[in-house]
Amino acid sequence: MAEVPERSVFDADVTLSVVVPFFNEAEVLPEFHRRLTAVLDGLKRRSEIIYIDDGSTDDSRSLVSSFPASKSDVFCIQLSRNFGKEAAMSAGLEHTRGQAVILLDADLQDPPELIPAMMAEWEKGFDVVNMQRRHRNGESWFKRSSARLFYRLLNILAQSEIPENVGDFRLLDRKVIHHINQLPERNRYMKGIFAWPGFEQTTVSFERDARFCGSSKWNYLKLLGLAVDGITSFSIKPLRLATLMGILIAFSAFCYGLMVVLKTLIIGDPVSGYPSMMVVQLGLGGIQLLSIGLLGEYIGRIFIETKARPLYLTQSIMEKKAVVISNNIQPVVRKAA
Ligand code: UDP
Ligand code: MG
Repeated sequence: MAEVPERSVFDADVTLSVVVPFFNEAEVLPEFHRRLTAVLDGLKRRSEIIYIDDGSTDDSRSLVSSFPASKSDVFCIQLSRNFGKEAAMSAGLEHTRGQAVILLDADLQDPPELIPAMMAEWEKGFDVVNMQRRHRNGESWFKRSSARLFYRLLNILAQSEIPENVGDFRLLDRKVIHHINQLPERNRYMKGIFAWPGFEQTTVSFERDARFCGSSKWNYLKLLGLAVDGITSFSIKPLRLATLMGILIAFSAFCYGLMVVLKTLIIGDPVSGYPSMMVVQLGLGGIQLLSIGLLGEYIGRIFIETKARPLYLTQSIMEKKAVVISNNIQPVVRKAA
C-alpha cells in the first residue's frame, strides 16, 4: 500500500463508498473483507472501501494492508489514537469520494449482502436509506428494552425525527454527506446528525445478526454516556423541564405552606414535623442536584465546542488501487423519488 498525503475529494466516477470504522477487529476483518468485496465485485459499479483504524492495538491494520487487491479501491485511514466510533465515522465520511456512501460495522452485524438492495433504493431516488433492525439478535432483554425506551425519549425531546432501531448502518447520498461534513460541532451523536439534514428518506428493515466474534465495545456506562450525548446534543427540552419542575415545586410548596398556616390558625394544630420536612428536603435536594447536573451537561458541551479541537487526528492514509476492471461498469441512472 502506498502512502497518500492528500485528503480525497468527490469523484463522480466513484459510485459507492463504503465506510468501515474498526477498533481491534482482527478476528473478524478477513471474513468481513471477503464478504464485502464479494458483494462489491458483483455490483458492476466503481466502488471504494474506506477503513478507519480507530487506534487499534491488535494487528487489524496490518491485516487490512495485506488484503489482496480487489475490484474496489481500498483506503485505510489510521487515526492517531482511539477517538471513538462517532469520530471515526466522521473521519471516514470526510474522505469519501462516491456519489452514495454506506456505513458498515466491521463485526458483520450489518450484512454486506444488503448493499445491492440499498443501492436499488438509492437509484429509485432516495437520498437516505435507513436500515431498521427487525430484531436485535444476540442482545439481552435489558439492552433491547433500554434501547426502546431511549429512542422513545429522544423522539419526544428532539425536534428532528430520529428513526427507532436504526443504527449507523445506512446509505447516504453525496448531497447529504456534503451537509454533514460541513457541520462544525464536536459533540457528534451521529444517529441524530444523519437524521438532521432530512431529504428523501426511506426505511428498509433487516435482520441484525449477532456479532461474528469478539464482544461489543460498548458497556452500559458508555451507552448511557451516548444516550446523554444524544439527548443533550439535539434538544434543550430537559432544561425547560427543570424550569417547569422548579415552578411546579415552588407553587406546591407555597400552597402547602398556606395550608399549614391556615390549619394552625383555624384548628390550632401544631406544625407536623420531622417526616414531612425530610420528604420535602430530600425531594427538593434531589431535584436541585439533578437540575444542576443537567446544566453542567450543557455547559460541558459548550466548553468542548469552544475549544474547537479537531475531531480526530490522522496518522497515516494507505491506499490500494483497484485491480484493472473490465468494462462491465454500468452508468448510474437515478430517478426522482
Ligand atoms: N468501533 C470503533 N471505535 C470504537 C468502538 C467501536 O471504530 O471506539 C467500531 C467497531 O470496531 C465496530 C463498530 O464500531 O466495527 C461497532 O462497534 P460494536 O460492535 O462494539 O458496537 P455495537 O454493535 O455493540 O453497537
Ligand atoms: Mg457490533
